Amino acid sequence: MEKHISGTTGLFTLLGTPVGHSGSPAMYNFSFKKQGLDYAYMAFDVKKEQMPQAIDALKLFKVRGSNVTMPCKSVASTLVDDLSPAAKIIGAINVIVNNDGKLTGHITDGIGFVRNLKENGVDIKGKNIVVIGAGGAATAIQVQVALDGAKSIAIFNQDDEFFENAKETKSKLKDETPNVKVDVYPLSDKGLLKEKIENADILVNATIVGMKPLDVQSLVDKSMLRSDLIVADTVYNPLKTKLIEDAEEVGAKAIPGKGMLLWQGAEAYKLFTGKEMPTDEYQAYEK
Ligand code: NAD
Repeated sequence: MEKHISGTTGLFTLLGTPVGHSGSPAMYNFSFKKQGLDYAYMAFDVKKEQMPQAIDALKLFKVRGSNVTMPCKSVASTLVDDLSPAAKIIGAINVIVNNDGKLTGHITDGIGFVRNLKENGVDIKGKNIVVIGAGGAATAIQVQVALDGAKSIAIFNQDDEFFENAKETKSKLKDETPNVKVDVYPLSDKGLLKEKIENADILVNATIVGMKPLDVQSLVDKSMLRSDLIVADTVYNPLKTKLIEDAEEVGAKAIPGKGMLLWQGAEAYKLFTGKEMPTDEYQAYEK
């Protein structure tokens, strides 16, 4: 590292809290080094209310780009100069690109999800999709699959503060992607969930259920899964959730959340550098 960093090294950052556990610095610094780019990536612990100062600092220090993580993704979208189409609909960003002092916000979670499916041989165009969840990850997925030509999206969520999000997403997508049928249902209606999964091509869990400490749980009974259903999870810790294990047991194509994490990062890398991230090399290095 001491040979790598010089007086001209361009800086990229991660802003949010907590950030100490993040794998992003390792992934981006590995990739910069591999591709001989004079860049470095550092994580900074920043609270929501400190984001205006952090954004000013990006401009002051001519930081070339930044990732933004929880809980700062929404507030960051109000502080940048411009937004990508998906970020505009969602009202949250996870990537900022600094073009000569003009900051543009992007959201790559949904793009990463779609890319991960593609890497697993699944095209979402024309597909009927059930998404459980209405938080940050779920909304990003719902908006991106709509923009990318899904046929229908059935959103299920429990009766909590996120339910309104789902209704808002439905209303925004009605204007932005009128050809995509979007419906919102209560997760408590298991009969309806069963019926919608029966008619779906793809089922997605985009809730925190399946993640530690809820890792013994799945919101979908195994009896609702079938071998020609594609089952994707956003949860990547553990690598295989109960939902993914159940899907594998019934012979369905099961796609864990780790790939989404990789590809949303790779998409950010492309926005930062204009290059494809060396994902194969990084995955081999990580093992
Ligand atoms: P969030 O806090 O914004 O949303 C939480 C969601 O979980 C809401 O829909 C909420 O209603 C639901 N939920 C919470 N407890 C529940 C319960 N007991 N039963 C049913 N639903 C429940 O969270 P988020 O940022 O959207 O993250 C959701 C998951 O997606 C997390 O596991 C996160 O790690 C994962 N994620 C993965 C990636 C990736 O790249 N793979 C990216 C972002 C998030």
